[in-house]
Amino acid sequence: MAALRVSFRALRPSSSSSSSSNSLVFSLVRYLSSSSSSSSSSSFVDSGVNLQKPANGVPLRRKPNGRNDVHWVFLGCPGVGKGTYASRLSNLLGVLHIATGDLIREELASSGPLAPKLAEVVNRGKLVSDEIVIDLLSNRLQAGEAKGESGFILDGFPRTIRQAEILEGVIDIDLVINLKLREDALLAKCLGRRICSECGGNFNIACIDIKGEDGKPGIYMPPLDPPPHCASKLITRSDDTEEVVKERLRVYNEMSQPLEEFYRSRGKLLEFDLPGGIPESWPKLLQALNLEDHDQRSAAA
Ligand SMILES: [Zn+2]
Repeated sequence: MAALRVSFRALRPSSSSSSSSNSLVFSLVRYLSSSSSSSSSSSFVDSGVNLQKPANGVPLRRKPNGRNDVHWVFLGCPGVGKGTYASRLSNLLGVLHIATGDLIREELASSGPLAPKLAEVVNRGKLVSDEIVIDLLSNRLQAGEAKGESGFILDGFPRTIRQAEILEGVIDIDLVINLKLREDALLAKCLGRRICSECGGNFNIACIDIKGEDGKPGIYMPPLDPPPHCASKLITRSDDTEEVVKERLRVYNEMSQPLEEFYRSRGKLLEFDLPGGIPESWPKLLQALNLEDHDQRSAAA
């Protein structure tokens, strides 16, 4: 991909303070670390009720026009492609892309300190607890902090209002981008997912071509075909069956509505309906974010 340049045109003109974002991340890390040190889930809940901004009173605002100082959250149901767009945006802005799903997989693969606890939860088919997610996230931010990284885009976190409140208590999330895709297209996209069993590459064999009707625009999403050397090695994830995907979407919608409302009521939610595949959606997303990618034609290709 060509090197990206970007203009940041006053995304939030009301931002006023110029406090160091490094200290913000550090505060979050400190806060999350101390919160998650409690051993039982109930004491964590108790300690999480009276969430306050850090005592040092640092105004929690990002620098105006500091394009690599964004504190953004990506919401969107499984399969909508939020990882793809969060990753592209983090490259464009030069900020961390923190996907909690990746953090969990990495911890499991690396046999890190949380791996045994995590393996037990995952093997029993349960959701990973807030405590573990927060531990992983705080470790990741700490590692970034050590390398001088400040801004971030969170992908897959927060997932619940309680998690959102923890974030809210210590750091000013600038913007929450809610990526949406109509359900029939989403279902087809999830069922078309394939993974190369040799290189792990992700592809999609679904060609989505829904005609517009009753004033609603159609949607076209071309397949993401594998290169010839992967084509014969494609596998489907065992949980990408229609039944499981539908259930996953139902659970997601149920869980996410209160979270969306949480951010909507704070004026931070940007709803973005994906108009199609990446080449169509990427420029429109940038437009919605008031961002420019001077190489967007090549980047979207
Ligand atoms: Zn391959």
